[in-house]
Amino acid sequence: MDLNDTPEQAAYRIQVREWLGEHREEAPPLRAPEGDEEAYLAARRTWQGKLAEGGLAGVVWPKELGGQGLGPIEQVIVNQEIGDAGVPGILDVIGVGMLGPTLIAHGSDEQKNRHLGPMLHGDEVWCQLFSEPAAGSDLAGVQSRAKLGDDGRWTLNGQKVWTTNAQFSSYGLLLARTDADVPKHKGLSMFIVDMNAPGVTTRGLRQISGEAEFNEVFFDDVVLEGDAVVGGVGNGWGTALTTLMFERLTIGLGSEGLGYRADRFAAPIAADPNARVDPDVRKRLGEIAADLLALRFTAYRTLTALQGGQIPGPESALAKVTTVNAAIAATDLIADVVGPEALDESSEWAYAISFLPGLKSAGGTEEILRNTVGERVLGLPPEPRLDKGIPFSELRAKERSATA
Ligand SMILES: Cc1cc2nc3c(=O)[nH]c(=O)nc-3n(C[C@H](O)[C@H](O)[C@H](O)COP(=O)(O)OP(=O)(O)OC[C@H]3O[C@@H](n4cnc5c(N)ncnc54)[C@H](O)[C@@H]3O)c2cc1C
Repeated sequence: MDLNDTPEQAAYRIQVREWLGEHREEAPPLRAPEGDEEAYLAARRTWQGKLAEGGLAGVVWPKELGGQGLGPIEQVIVNQEIGDAGVPGILDVIGVGMLGPTLIAHGSDEQKNRHLGPMLHGDEVWCQLFSEPAAGSDLAGVQSRAKLGDDGRWTLNGQKVWTTNAQFSSYGLLLARTDADVPKHKGLSMFIVDMNAPGVTTRGLRQISGEAEFNEVFFDDVVLEGDAVVGGVGNGWGTALTTLMFERLTIGLGSEGLGYRADRFAAPIAADPNARVDPDVRKRLGEIAADLLALRFTAYRTLTALQGGQIPGPESALAKVTTVNAAIAATDLIADVVGPEALDESSEWAYAISFLPGLKSAGGTEEILRNTVGERVLGLPPEPRLDKGIPFSELRAKERSATA
């Protein structure tokens, strides 16, 4: 809570806290009760609608599009107060946090008017259809293809993977290849896809945490209207970069609200009389606390820049890497101190221990983000790239001859 609020921000914090105090009883629990996933999902949608009515969803969205027109500091205040109130935040973090801002930046007026309201209120959940089996880190290599017909409609074929929330999404934002005869970044377009359209098949992938948040999604001759394109044909890469920027920001700054705080991690360690005097445990906790503190002040610097209207630079990639690594180190330490009980279903740590390692890949892997920082912040020489300037359709032949 140490944001050093200005008087206006302190007043805003009180307003948010009061709203949450009044409505806390209407909130669903933080996690779904066993075997009740459908009802829980419905309750989370309703709760998102209430948060939106109370002005606690879409905080940074423009007022004319249903948001509050406030800055990222107010968003962090909302995240912190929701965390402290012990209630869930919005269900559709991907939609409201990443895909909505992409539509706001690149969508047509019709697309914004049709989609942003239902997205904000949780009536229509969205998913991000970017990654494919052979295009994750190398996202510009996507092979799902959309072909334009004489009638002005597109026909989509291909497969996506790791699509969070696709199992209950109404719409997805999908990156597809629309021209294979130009270099790979140039032949991409972004589409809005109706997840209930004929030819869309969604299959769940169960994770170690027991949940199936991810999916594989298949597209077989799915017809898309001409006005499904977001940001113009051939401009898909630029549109995708907007989404990725918001994704890193959501994960990196999200830690302020998600509870990645040293004091929270220290609590189970302090409760153990042996661990609290063990020099190795103390050293590990000290290192984690130092990382989280550095991260917090880096986040404040980013927030100040954002509040002043600047766009987050490539250095924000480091916030994501440090957040995730520190949180994993902390939960590893807790598992060492608490022992196997930390993985017991009743333990508050079981979910975090099994879920956090996945975040190493989500939003860009550590290797890729470190490469970005090396090249674009430190000015190190770029990685050798075999595909520069070569039409996508010729890449496979080029790769084959390079490895022959
Ligand atoms: C929790 C979670 C949620 C996700 N949700 C979504 C979603 O909703 N929608 C979506 O589209 N995607 C989603 N993803 C997918 C995510 O974007 C990808 O996992 C990520 O981009 C990495 O791609 P990949 O898994 O294919 O790994 P790969 O790209 O195959 O990488 C495998 C390994 O090789 C390394 N590597 C690859 N290239 C290089 C290089 N040039 N130099 C050095 N090392 C390299 C990587 O760092 C990694 O360690 C999600 C992933 C997770 C874990």
